[in-house]
Amino acid sequence: MQFKNLKMVDYVVYGRGCFSQLDAILAPRRIGNAPMVFIVDHYFENNAAFIASIPKQAHDHLLFADVSYEPKTTTVDAIAAKLKSNYGTVSGIIGIGGGSVLDLAAAVAIMMTNPGLAHEYQGWDLVKNKAVYKVGIPTISGTGAEVSRTCVLTGPTRKLGMNSDFTPFDQIVLDPALIKSVPRNQNFYTGMDCYIHCIESLEGTYINEFSRSFGEKALALCQEIYLHKDKWDDESDEKLMMASYAGGMSIAYSQVGVAHAISYGLSYLLGTKHGIGNCIVFNHLEEFYPAGVAEFKQMVIKNNIDIPTGICKGLTDEQFDTMIDVSLGMSPLWENALGKEWQTKMDRKRLRSIYEKF
Ligand code: NAD
Ligand code: ZN
Repeated sequence: MQFKNLKMVDYVVYGRGCFSQLDAILAPRRIGNAPMVFIVDHYFENNAAFIASIPKQAHDHLLFADVSYEPKTTTVDAIAAKLKSNYGTVSGIIGIGGGSVLDLAAAVAIMMTNPGLAHEYQGWDLVKNKAVYKVGIPTISGTGAEVSRTCVLTGPTRKLGMNSDFTPFDQIVLDPALIKSVPRNQNFYTGMDCYIHCIESLEGTYINEFSRSFGEKALALCQEIYLHKDKWDDESDEKLMMASYAGGMSIAYSQVGVAHAISYGLSYLLGTKHGIGNCIVFNHLEEFYPAGVAEFKQMVIKNNIDIPTGICKGLTDEQFDTMIDVSLGMSPLWENALGKEWQTKMDRKRLRSIYEKF
């Protein structure tokens, strides 16, 4: 048996207000005049007070990332090319935002030191050279992208991450104050990504004590904030931020499952975003995760959330086939969920009947 030798984030700072330490954290990483590059979620574009709190020096570079769509390989290439032509090299890349910005920042950091185009590195262990120094600072919690070994990108032919030992951040900054402004629905969709990570990891065939210890804690935190607390408060943000971290650690040493495999198809064809896509799918997965789906439905009601319906109405056979191809291509996810013989349990017809429910 080959055991996974897990590359993890090097440094973690946690606590309300810890974002103010960023300047000191970056100082020893500055190389001569090479700039630090801050990639910031466009949500903050008009928030002058927040922008002023970013420790940007005169020669640094700050750009806003439009995350209306999930990150594309072409965007990564364009940013990396511009930075190379402007500066030659940079001291580091700092992503400040949700999962979309964290993935974008990690991918740009990788493309600063690797030849060719980003889509050539979509897959497992294709990245050749260590990336430039990179920092991930989540402003919305749930995806676990802050502790991930991958950065998910939509390329010309597929949606797939650069999964490598060079992908995890050198540093993450976990400041629960940064996620306070996330709107309720978005908070729920991304928070449920974490809940679904826990269910898929804990109920999968790849489960082991390493993953279980993180997954159980993350699950308990999600239950506390989305089911047992009456009001969302600062403590809820603190718990959600740590649930995201622990949920991410749980799947890092196991795998996600049916909801993710199916939601990748929706995202590829329809551009459905990760969190909401997972919610749309998970809502109909009683046959795979009966207890988890029942609890999820309670959380939807308790938090008064709308889960969109009818998104697959009127799709053509060809479009269903595209989603089915993308989904069945995720074999580790299916194997984790249904076992080594998963192909005897999940075929195109059964998968189509699931997609028709959304
Ligand atoms: P997101 O990054 O797409 O952001 C969702 C919305 O929240 C955006 O409109 C954004 O502008 C807004 N936002 C961000 N911070 C905010 C704040 N503090 N206040 C108000 N609004 C704020 O959402 P997400 O769910 O965090 O990330 C989804 C992305 O993460 C997808 O691209 C998915 O592929 C990726 N992902 C990656 C991994 C991984 O392992 N690398 C895992 C899961 C998901
Ligand atoms: Zn996820």
